[in-house]
Amino acid sequence: MTATNNSSITRRRARQVLVGGVAIGGGAPIVVQSVTDTDTADIAATVAQVKALADAGSELVRISVNDANAARAIPAIQEQLGALGCTVPLIGDFDSDGHKLLTNYPECARALAKYRINPGNVGKGRKDDPQFVMMIEKAIEYGKSVRIGVNSRGFDRELLAQFMDGNAKAADPLDAAQVMREALIASAIGSAERAEEIGLPGDRIVLACKVPDVQALIAIYCELARRCDYPLHLGLTEGGLGSEGIVASTAAIAVLLQRGIGDTIRVSLRPESNRGHRTSEVQVAQEILQTMGLRSFAPQVTACPGCGRTTSPFFLELADKIQAYLRTQMPLWRSCYPGVETMNVAVMGCVVNGPGESKMANVGISLPGTGEVPVAPVYVDGEKTVTLKGEHIAEEFHQIVSDYVRATYGGEPPAAHLKPERKSIPIRASSIVNLPPS
Ligand code: SF4
Repeated sequence: MTATNNSSITRRRARQVLVGGVAIGGGAPIVVQSVTDTDTADIAATVAQVKALADAGSELVRISVNDANAARAIPAIQEQLGALGCTVPLIGDFDSDGHKLLTNYPECARALAKYRINPGNVGKGRKDDPQFVMMIEKAIEYGKSVRIGVNSRGFDRELLAQFMDGNAKAADPLDAAQVMREALIASAIGSAERAEEIGLPGDRIVLACKVPDVQALIAIYCELARRCDYPLHLGLTEGGLGSEGIVASTAAIAVLLQRGIGDTIRVSLRPESNRGHRTSEVQVAQEILQTMGLRSFAPQVTACPGCGRTTSPFFLELADKIQAYLRTQMPLWRSCYPGVETMNVAVMGCVVNGPGESKMANVGISLPGTGEVPVAPVYVDGEKTVTLKGEHIAEEFHQIVSDYVRATYGGEPPAAHLKPERKSIPIRASSIVNLPPS
């Protein structure tokens, strides 16, 4: 086991697997990955979606390679992404004919950084399974890693029947759900061991064992973590729509992460029609890791939930504006100001209880609540620095946050409104500018 930067979580020690230069396991930061939902043969649409997912922060992107047209498209997808400056490693998700596609389309086999193999689709991983063997041999030939991804949807019924038969004869038989879990675990570990027998090094194998049920997933991964040291890919097979999917994925993944289990995560979300965007699954995965204190991706905005003191829309609008401002600035800030992603900004809805939380943040503001004097005290690193008022509180607060970033993470001299015990300093909205690129 190895400690993380969050002292309350000790991560399980897994062997490290490299996927196109991205490390999974072995103490590496937990990797965020996502999956496209375009027709892979539609090269333009797939390139656009992979780019969007990578830009949102997906460190690996999985693409379906479900037929010959998809396999033919993979090299062009990789080339076009490269022309756009996008080098995110691509993972090929194969079905039962994966062995043929990897054989018939060597450029596809080369372009992919990892092959995802479901033993339930391509075979059982046993000695009599030529399809599984062929896929592993291709991974060996091209120097690729694989994910052995078992799931309850495409599971090997023959193997399950064997487990059921054995269980029926046992002195102390398990219930059906436990038998299913045991069979899934055995399939995953057995297939990984078979891949090593074929000749694939153990440090090129990632394991996943996905089911749709939260409690079952937790039980399965705890057992996988106990029985092997392959890096583990966490995620439900399907989380659901909207908030239901977010809650289910978060519940399952967070419990496992808290136990130190998990080396890469994917949040399976189906975007709600006309409203959601595919990149939302990347954002949710990042937010899970950041909330758990395992990684930092963007400044955290702590906004109070609001109450009877926040009856005007001003508070909500300002919290939204500040969140949007931080997201807009982050791509530039991340490259210019290392460490900015750890910043915490508090937006509180009243001056009665808000200052306490504001003092805990790097930069905090307490907005006037209903019936309060229309002023907004600002705290910087626990000290009150300035009180804003008037029409342009949002813009002035943006300027303060921007100046804080430059002073704290860029080493520039602090502006006057970052120093303690200042009186209100008027800042013109027109003075707000984007930060220079370097
Ligand atoms: S900080 Fe103030 S406005 Fe926000 S929830 Fe608490 S009491 Fe209500």
